[in-house]
Amino acid sequence: MPDDSKTGVTVLGLGAMGTALAEAFLAGGHPTTVWNRSAGKAGGLAAKGAVVAGTPAEAIAANGVVVVCLFDARSVREVLETGAESLPGRVLVNLTNGTPGEARELAAWVAEHDVEFLDGGIMAVPPMIGSPAAFVLYSGSRTAFDTHKELFDSLGESLYYGTDPGLAALHDLALLSGMYGMFMGVIQAFALIGSEGSEARSFAPLLKRWITGMTGFIDGAAEQIDKRDYTIGVVSNLAMQAGAGDAFAKVGEEQAISAELLAPLRPLMLRRVADGHGHEDLTGIIELLKIKK
Ligand code: NDP
Repeated sequence: MPDDSKTGVTVLGLGAMGTALAEAFLAGGHPTTVWNRSAGKAGGLAAKGAVVAGTPAEAIAANGVVVVCLFDARSVREVLETGAESLPGRVLVNLTNGTPGEARELAAWVAEHDVEFLDGGIMAVPPMIGSPAAFVLYSGSRTAFDTHKELFDSLGESLYYGTDPGLAALHDLALLSGMYGMFMGVIQAFALIGSEGSEARSFAPLLKRWITGMTGFIDGAAEQIDKRDYTIGVVSNLAMQAGAGDAFAKVGEEQAISAELLAPLRPLMLRRVADGHGHEDLTGIIELLKIKK
């Protein structure tokens, strides 16, 4: 039940994630006010002690800390503009997914409303919120982070990335890029195995073993990238890997499985080899990803 000695918090947005956030704040004993565009999503939270506000302005006015978790940057701005009269003096924490540029733009807008701002990236799915597996990245006001860390820790481990409000979103999108790259490979692997009628679940343990082993590559890659030297500790050079890469297109044709998920990688490898870097590591293709502005 809410404990009046604890920091009160408002949650704007009761989708799957906003609901999980509000539940975790309530479970941590924090008095919690919620608002959602469509009525009817707050019943379960009200039963657990949440106050349900009728408008964004009413919800924002209710507490010193306001957490926003909506669909996208546009919906966040729309809702905050509606409740702008209540913003002065608040700490605003935007946990809606977005880009660094969107976070910086929102930070500039809320600064005009006398708001302390943190942007965040939630590294968890809703059922993980409040568990030790969840972590949330924050950037923006250091004072706001330090003052309310106990509140934020209700959601999972709170990690601060600096005063530039764009940095949490940058780290969030980098981590999601790693995740989606892995998912692409996992889905392709299951598609290939399935082309001969094998069950995915019997292949899954072997796939997990292989991918877990390959995470050992990350630290070495990081050293090569930081030193911009892709010859350090090479055990499987790029020319060899690019040559073997032809098999991914061929196996797709043989097994009638599209190779389009992995297709972008090989042209990058071949370009790098053609540029004279065949003796280096795969990591060097990072050089081809840098676009001059
Ligand atoms: P949902 O689709 O479940 O909920 C979206 C929420 O946004 C609802 O409350 C919806 O209101 C509201 N909304 C959408 N458009 C508007 C608008 N124009 N004005 C006001 N409210 C609006 O999404 P989630 O809760 O899952 O995700 C919310 C954020 O959390 C997203 O940015 C997502 O990327 C991020 N996130 C989600 C994760 C997940 O696994 N679910 C993981 C990590 C981050 P209504 O009920 O009225 O439609």
